[in-house]
Amino acid sequence: MTSNNQPEVNIGLVGHVDHGKTTLVQALSGEWTDQHSEEMKRGISIRLGYADATFRRCPEEEEPEAFTVDEHCEDHDVDTDHLRTVSFVDAPGHETLMATMLSGAAIMDGAVLVVSATEPVPQAQTEEHLSALDIIGIDNIVIAQNKVDLVDEERAMANYEQIQEFVEGTVAEDAPVVPISAGQEANIDLLIDAIEREIPTPERDPDADARMMVARSFDINRPGTTYEDLLGGVLGGSLVAGKLEVDDEIELRPGREVEEGGKTEWRPVTTDVRSLQSGGDFVDEVTPGGLLGVGTGLDPAITTGDALAGQVAGPPGSLPPTHEQFTMDVDLLERIVGDDGGEVEDISTGEPLMLTIGTATTVGSVTSARSGECEVALKRPVCAQEGAKIAINRRVGARWRLIGVGTLRG
Ligand code: GDP
Ligand code: MG
Repeated sequence: MTSNNQPEVNIGLVGHVDHGKTTLVQALSGEWTDQHSEEMKRGISIRLGYADATFRRCPEEEEPEAFTVDEHCEDHDVDTDHLRTVSFVDAPGHETLMATMLSGAAIMDGAVLVVSATEPVPQAQTEEHLSALDIIGIDNIVIAQNKVDLVDEERAMANYEQIQEFVEGTVAEDAPVVPISAGQEANIDLLIDAIEREIPTPERDPDADARMMVARSFDINRPGTTYEDLLGGVLGGSLVAGKLEVDDEIELRPGREVEEGGKTEWRPVTTDVRSLQSGGDFVDEVTPGGLLGVGTGLDPAITTGDALAGQVAGPPGSLPPTHEQFTMDVDLLERIVGDDGGEVEDISTGEPLMLTIGTATTVGSVTSARSGECEVALKRPVCAQEGAKIAINRRVGARWRLIGVGTLRG
């Protein structure tokens, strides 16, 4: 059973803190609430920071005014038509570390960049998040110029021009800029119109092997649950290819670290799919798009506290290799983005880097650096295929800063 509310596309909400991302998600997810499946849902929504929104269209209204998230069109007293359900991945508000944003970006099909009209453009994370989209290669972007209710027309226009200037030459160069007020729910119809045009649902191959990017993992059992009532570990993330069904056997890579004869090694873990949750419903089958929860037969002790975040799941034998070290081609930015800037210096042998590959974030130590490429040894291995994009961060002062992009060599 798949309901009409299965999300089919993931849209990131990015931008500077306090510019209105969370308020916008609320405005877009409307009154959509869910009474089903409290347990799993609770766990997933808290940890994933996402919300689903169903875009609808009033049959009696012209576009773009026809676009809405309401099930009923008050003006014409008719029910609205379902267009599609989208999943918003809300970048955490106070995230100074880019890792969360970058690993979220691995499962985004497009993004809404929220920019407040009340501040000069760009603010630090506006710039950082845009370069992250650039690096990961997300080019389906809509810019929401938010809080226009707080500025007069002249300031709104000046801010609009600043936005245009700022995105010139970037991946968001041609992105539409839609003035909105998330707080007052104004121009939400125009924003939906822009999202419908700019962030289409990607075409997918229904026969491809299932491939799930695990972004979170947890133990949903309440403390004190007795053994016979214990539910298996839950994986949260997104299916990027194929389809997944209840009872499917899945393999997780890199899996878990096992110690044997004084030696440690990472071994894939195999389990079965016990339940699937998407769009707030339990379903028998899921296709790509949206964030899903997969109840597994795994011991919840293995999945607790995001222990499996960053791993990849799919049919046994279908996954890319696990790398404990690799060589990557390196393309460095000219300057460090964000508040203090500064030139990006070459990567040197011995330096630690924070690498984001898919939903995995791991620290790597550079074992050899040459111009345009380097070899790294990872603290935690990753499962990734040749050609995978790698966001490269360097420690500058107290923070990891994005310095470039790598491409995994075979
Ligand atoms: P986030 O950090 O990007 O998620 O920002 P929030 O959604 O938490 O919003 C930050 C603050 O701005 C909150 O106090 C919101 O109520 C307020 N806010 C967000 N959008 C608007 C808007 O369109 N107009 C006004 N006046 N306030 C807004
Ligand atoms: Mg927020």
